[in-house]
Amino acid sequence: MNATGDRSALQRRRAQELGVRPEQAAPLIAKEAGLPFSEEPNWHPDPASVAPLAFLSSIHALPLSCDDGVHLATTWAPDASCESWARATLGTKPIWTIVAAPALDSAFASRFGVAAANLEGSGEIIPEETEAEDDAGDDAAAAKLVEGLLTRAAGEGATDIHVEPWGRELAVRMRVDGELEPVPLPANAAALRRSVVARLKVLAKLDLSERRTPQDGRFSAEAGGRRFDIRVSTLPAVHGESVSLRLLETEATPPVLSELGLPSAALNAFSEATTSPHGIVVVTGPTGSGKTTTLAALMRSVMRPGLRAVTVEDPVERELPGAVQVQVRPELGLGFAQVLRSVLRQDPDLILVGEIRDRETADIAVRASLTGHLVLTTLHANDSAGAVERLRDLGVEPFLLASSLRLAASQRLVRKVCPDCSTKSRLSKELLLAAGKALGRTPKEDGLRKGSGCRFCRGGYRGRTAIAEALRASASVRSMIASRASATEIRALGVTEGMVTLPEEALRAAEAGITTLAEAALRCADAHG
Ligand SMILES: [Zn+2]
Repeated sequence: MNATGDRSALQRRRAQELGVRPEQAAPLIAKEAGLPFSEEPNWHPDPASVAPLAFLSSIHALPLSCDDGVHLATTWAPDASCESWARATLGTKPIWTIVAAPALDSAFASRFGVAAANLEGSGEIIPEETEAEDDAGDDAAAAKLVEGLLTRAAGEGATDIHVEPWGRELAVRMRVDGELEPVPLPANAAALRRSVVARLKVLAKLDLSERRTPQDGRFSAEAGGRRFDIRVSTLPAVHGESVSLRLLETEATPPVLSELGLPSAALNAFSEATTSPHGIVVVTGPTGSGKTTTLAALMRSVMRPGLRAVTVEDPVERELPGAVQVQVRPELGLGFAQVLRSVLRQDPDLILVGEIRDRETADIAVRASLTGHLVLTTLHANDSAGAVERLRDLGVEPFLLASSLRLAASQRLVRKVCPDCSTKSRLSKELLLAAGKALGRTPKEDGLRKGSGCRFCRGGYRGRTAIAEALRASASVRSMIASRASATEIRALGVTEGMVTLPEEALRAAEAGITTLAEAALRCADAHG
């Protein structure tokens, strides 16, 4: 990474060390440097009139509107070389102000778009689009744009970046807290669209000349002071290739169970189920519901030096220190079932199966759990009782399932209300009734909150938390499974035995002001009956 954003990375790192947000670390950094801190910077309307954009980008500073002298806002105290560069460029000694990294970074992005300052003056050197394939390779402007995108994604905590050709335009969107949002781009970005795609393909070591078939690759990069493993996939679309990037922070240790924000009923059920040395624990939920993270946290809670842990994953998403992790390669005939069969010859105690998709895998997993192994896995099913039905549909014998199942859980992620701008939420009777209908009962109005949107959040939300229901395989639940009872009957029994359903947990989270009623209904209403 070049200097762009480095200062913000320094501030974010200091904030992390202090265990606070950058907004709280910035005043301390200012104090240490003997510089003023501005909470709400009054940005100069025309930064280019104050200093060359390339310079401002390089030192990661933006001018403020002031009558006396040149005021530059930045996120980390300038060193001597920065000072002298600034003085030489501006012809005067600037007056520095420290601001919070998110404020400066979003000011950069909203004023110029990602990395736009790097593209200054490049209008004349970017060739008109041609069909030639080689002008793309190491196009410096595209490389900087890609770098700027990665820095921004790291800063915002994005999980995915999508580079999409829209007609002759280039669109870039990022997924943050599960929501897609457009990334502002410089005006000349459209002309770079082929080069940006080519740059990403080069990074991921893909075949540049192949534009008609989908390709997959990966690369690692440092952005915003953190290391990422980035999976890249291309899809040939009508107007050119669409490229998707999935960002996985490599050195981030998986969270432990208690850090997921799970409701206490589910947390207790998980802890109880994983004390058993054998059996199968299933977590269900749609894509993006956080079930893989929960599985990793479960693994962490069970693993100890005396146990041999093996994982079979597609793909291996994060490192689990102490576990042997295997990636399935269906193209080489190494699907989940085949790998799992080999794993069983490797004397494992604990097995993580990334996902059960077919009968063979389901059979092997269930049999393994009956022969002294603890198996943790995920499934696509709407709710916890639905997991039982799904396994039976895949062809698992009900009596085998009844004896092996320890726990079936279902999970969703909901966005959390921003604590900095939330207020009591007043809803009309109609909305309360509608939400009540979707979630199973009318909510109590007292604790409902919602955010109005502020500089710390996105539209009133900041971060996400897990909501889950957990069906314990009690003796009565097992006998119901063995007698081929329906998911509805099993769910009803689970509730009488203390299971708090997903919609009910979501309602409680809304009533506690953790999330909004709208978000609870949006994410968790489908897990109802
Ligand atoms: Zn807020």
